[in-house]
Amino acid sequence: MDQKKMFIDGCWTEGSEGKSEPTINPANGQVLAYMTVGTKEDVHRAVAAARRSFYETREWRDLDSQSRSDKLLEIADAIEAEKEEFARLDSMDHGKPLREAECDVDDAIHCFRYYAGILKAPCGGSYEVNDGFGAMHSYTIHEPVGVCALITPWNYPLLMAVWKLAPALAAGNSVVFKPSSNCVLSCVKLFEIFEKLEMPKGSVNLVLGPGSVVGNEMAASTDVDMVTFTGSTQVGQSIMRAAAGNVKKVGLELGGKSPNVIFADADLEGAVEWAMVGIFFNQGEVCSAGSRIIIEESIKDAFVKRLAQRANAMTIGNPLDNPDMGPLVTEGHMNRVLSYIQKGIDEGATLVCGGERYTEGECASGYYVRPTIFNDCTSDMTIVREEIFGPVVTIQTFRTEQEAIDLANDTPYGLAGAVFTADGARALRVIREIRAGITWINCYNPTFNEAPWGGYKMSGIGRELGVHGLEEYQEVKQININLNPGTLGWYEH
Ligand code: NAD
Repeated sequence: MDQKKMFIDGCWTEGSEGKSEPTINPANGQVLAYMTVGTKEDVHRAVAAARRSFYETREWRDLDSQSRSDKLLEIADAIEAEKEEFARLDSMDHGKPLREAECDVDDAIHCFRYYAGILKAPCGGSYEVNDGFGAMHSYTIHEPVGVCALITPWNYPLLMAVWKLAPALAAGNSVVFKPSSNCVLSCVKLFEIFEKLEMPKGSVNLVLGPGSVVGNEMAASTDVDMVTFTGSTQVGQSIMRAAAGNVKKVGLELGGKSPNVIFADADLEGAVEWAMVGIFFNQGEVCSAGSRIIIEESIKDAFVKRLAQRANAMTIGNPLDNPDMGPLVTEGHMNRVLSYIQKGIDEGATLVCGGERYTEGECASGYYVRPTIFNDCTSDMTIVREEIFGPVVTIQTFRTEQEAIDLANDTPYGLAGAVFTADGARALRVIREIRAGITWINCYNPTFNEAPWGGYKMSGIGRELGVHGLEEYQEVKQININLNPGTLGWYEH
C-alpha cells in the first residue's frame, strides 16, 4: 500500500526511525494509506534546510515580488487542475461530505490567489516628523520573519494548511509544516505540487508525525523564528510555553464554544436554517461552530421543535455519496463526543434528538454520531462549558437583552458568535458586546479570505486571512532619515 513520505530540503524522505503508521478511513475503519512517522531528528533536518534556504541561498526570500506572486498563482492553478482529487482525499481522510470538501478546495485555491494579489499591494507607512531632532522622514518596511513552523489540525486538512502556507510564502518566509496525523493525504499532495513547480530547495518542508514529539520540537526549536498553530487551546498553551526559549513569534488559532443568540423577532425559519449550518456543517467539527444556542424564552419551544425536525431529517452516510453528514474523524474522537453526550444526560440536560452512534447499514463499521440537541441547559453544565467538536448543540434561554449578552460571554473562549434579530440597532448593540473575534448578524459561518479570522480570550492570539494574515508573517522595520545631515537638533545645545 501507498506509503506517504515527508518532504525535506527538496527530497521525499522517510522518518529517521523507519516507522510508519496508518491513516484510517472513518467511513469504514479501513486503512487508506500508511505514512512515515517523523522524529525530532527529522524536525532538525527540516529546520536546518529551511534556515539554509532563508539565510544562505535566499532564493525564495529574494525572489522579486512579481515572480513570487506568479508562483503562488501557479500553485493555485495546479490545485485547481486536480480539484476533484483533492476533494476526494479530504472527504475520505476526514469524513466530510464531498461537496463540502469541494468548497474547501475552492477556498484554498482562492486563498493562494488572494495572497498572490495582496503581496503586491502597498504596505508600510510614511511619516514626516519634526519633534526636536530636526526634520526627519520616517517610514516602515515589511520583511519576512524567517523560518516559520506551521502546525495544523485535522478538521479542514487542506484549507487550514493553506491559510498558513499562502501568507507565509507570500511574505517570503521559509516554512516547516506539520499537518495532523489524522489527515495527511491532501497535504502530501500539496507538497507534490510544490515539488512539481520547483519551489526553491528548503523553502517548503513537510514533516509528519505525532504532535507531542514533532510539533513540540518545532515549537521549541531555537532555530525557528516563528511558530503558528491551529488546534486546541490546551496544545496552544503548551506551544506558547515551548516557544519561550528564543521568544519566537507565536500565532495561535484555538478552540471555541461560540454563542448563537436568537431574539423573538428574528425570522424563525431563517434562524433554524443558519443554526443547522452553525452546528452540523462538517459534523460540527468546526472551531467556530454555533454550539451554544441562546434563545429568547417566548420562541424557544417553536424553535426547538423545528430544529429537531430538521436534525432528524438529516441524511447520514458515506461522505463520498454526499449525505448531509459524514462520520467523525476517528473512533477515539467519536467516543469522546459520545462521552460528552452521556455527561449531558447525567447532568440533567433534556435530550431532544440524536444522542447516539449511528450504525445503520454500511455505517456500522464507521464513526457516525446522530445530530444531537440538548434542551434546558444551564451554564454550569459540562456540555455548555467545554468544546465538544461534534454535532452536539445546547439550548439556553433568556428574557432580556442583557441576560443574552451575559450568557453569550459566560465562557473562557472568544472565537465566534452570532445574533439573529429583525431590529438592526439591537443587532449592532449586541454584536459589539460579544467578546469574540468573528461575528455574524442574521447568518452563521460565512468566511472570506479578505476578512481577518481569529479569537479573543482563550481562543487565540493574532489573525489569519486578510491583510492581517500577511502581516502575521512579517516583521516591521522602522527607518528614520535625517533630512539635514550634519545637524543634531536639540542635541546641539
Ligand atoms: P490538537 O490541538 O489536538 O492538534 C492540532 C495539531 O497540533 C496537530 O497537528 C497535532 O499533531 C499537533 N500537536 C498535538 N500536540 C502537540 C504538542 N504538544 N506540541 C505541538 N503540536 C502538537 O487539535 P485537533 O484535535 O487536531 O483539532 C481540533 C481543535 O482545533 C479544536 O479545538 C478546534 O477548535 C481547533 N481549531 C481552531 C481553529 C481556529 O481557527 N481557531 C480552526 C480549526 C480548528
